[in-house]
Amino acid sequence: MTATIINGIEIAQQIREELKLEVTAMKEKHNVVPGLVTILVGENPASVSYVTAKQKTSHELNFYSIQDNQPADISEKQLLELIASYNKDPKIHGILVQLPLPKHIDEKKVLNAIDPDKDVDGFHPTNVGKMVVGEKAFLPCTPHGVIQLLLRSGVTIEGSHVVIVGRSNIVGKPLANMLIQKNAIGNATVTVCHTRTKNLAHHTRQADIIIAAAGRPNTITADMVKEGVVVIDVGVNRIEDATKKQGFRLVGDVDFEAVKEKASLITPVPGGVGPMTITMLLYNTVESAKRSAL
Ligand code: NAP
Repeated sequence: MTATIINGIEIAQQIREELKLEVTAMKEKHNVVPGLVTILVGENPASVSYVTAKQKTSHELNFYSIQDNQPADISEKQLLELIASYNKDPKIHGILVQLPLPKHIDEKKVLNAIDPDKDVDGFHPTNVGKMVVGEKAFLPCTPHGVIQLLLRSGVTIEGSHVVIVGRSNIVGKPLANMLIQKNAIGNATVTVCHTRTKNLAHHTRQADIIIAAAGRPNTITADMVKEGVVVIDVGVNRIEDATKKQGFRLVGDVDFEAVKEKASLITPVPGGVGPMTITMLLYNTVESAKRSAL
């Protein structure tokens, strides 16, 4: 069997088109425009490119969008005051603080200072708690993006055995929580694996769906999967490649070429999960604006 490739760029574009229609309708009906602020502290090149991409996409969707660049030596107190001012700003429905922050700033304190109603990253403990107990909450963007990729590719999550490799707070843990919920995007049977898991292959071979979020190339090889499995590769790893101008290329956690010969569906890296993360951030901002309009 050779897998069908799940095209994350196309699926993300489809969701963005849907959001654009919602943005237009909200403006006409309620005169509300979704407002997103991205706060960037310092000039970390990876953070600059993430924030630029988020801003660009929010402009494409006709958001009210602010990129707030702050110097690397901003004090924690000043940053907390800045967040407090955006918490009060009625034009802003989503606040995103780009991580990582400089070492002198306590990231947890900063993330917890964001009003949970504007926490479009879904990292605030209030939103995490609500998600776990099955209440309405902003869903964290990468896990929600993974679920949308599955659903929009016609994969049945309900009743499937999903094996997640990775248990971080931003990917593995929230994904597991979302997939076990008794709702339309859940009802899966979930196994979560990590570095202390004994015999990873024993678990992955039983999976109907594998979600790899380990951050290591070749964590999932062809001998570790059953025929017909669905594979979502969240990993983004740089490996040296002298044929590339930058001297590296991006790969996921899955041995893509070999695993695609056994899988029924598989995401590539890049072009799989990546485009979905920003899209779900915009989705959350539209949700937040809708709530404010009611
Ligand atoms: P992380 O915080 O480093 O967590 C990695 C997790 O994988 C940990 O739970 C770790 O186990 C587990 N793990 C690592 N190697 C393993 C192995 N060989 N076998 C089993 N488990 C293993 O990483 P993260 O933030 O969740 O991100 C994971 C990957 O996804 C990274 O490559 C990251 O760049 C990528 N990512 C992509 C997007 C996107 O939008 N495309 C978004 C977020 C993250 P322990 O807990 O035992 O250490």
